[in-house]
Amino acid sequence: MADYNYLFKYIIVGDAGVGKSCLLLQFTDKRFRAEHDMTIGVEFGHRLAELDGQKIKLQIWDTAGQEAFRSITRAYYRGATGALLVYDISRRASFDHLAQWLTDARQNAQPNMVIILIGNKSDLERREVTYEEGAWFARQNGLFFLETSAKTGQNVEAAFLDTARQIFENL
Ligand code: GDP
Repeated sequence: MADYNYLFKYIIVGDAGVGKSCLLLQFTDKRFRAEHDMTIGVEFGHRLAELDGQKIKLQIWDTAGQEAFRSITRAYYRGATGALLVYDISRRASFDHLAQWLTDARQNAQPNMVIILIGNKSDLERREVTYEEGAWFARQNGLFFLETSAKTGQNVEAAFLDTARQIFENL
């Protein structure tokens, strides 16, 4: 018998270098990897969570370098019930590209996919995108929003688990 009642597939999208692999690693292993090594990019992870007494398996896919081509395939989105749309608060360009990522997601994903906007690297002093700008973009597009740090772990649990709760409520 399976050790969970529900299986939710998540995908993580956003520009290269915003911290997608690190968010995945922090959530599944509670670890942070400082060096940037594309070749050991995490591609896939999973973790069990419990919500309202129900055991949920979160199966998480990371783009692992495909974002260089800016065209994540339809197959990647197939069956995804949750998406983390990530930018880097210290890199303006990654915020400016969000609209494109969102268009992509809306074209390829199932209509009820829950999307949370993540402003990652909140531990960094030098920011190029304010919290208010992130919150505004999220509000305009009907997304949930959190700033996280894959380095300190701040809000990483919340990002994945709040999304799971939302998916659960939509069932
Ligand atoms: P990806 O290409 O989006 O998967 O990005 P990575 O997860 O490989 O991270 C890119 C770089 O940013 C790496 O050098 C990480 O160590 C660093 N990084 C990722 N998340 C954070 C964070 O929350 N804070 C800080 N300070 N650095 C981070």
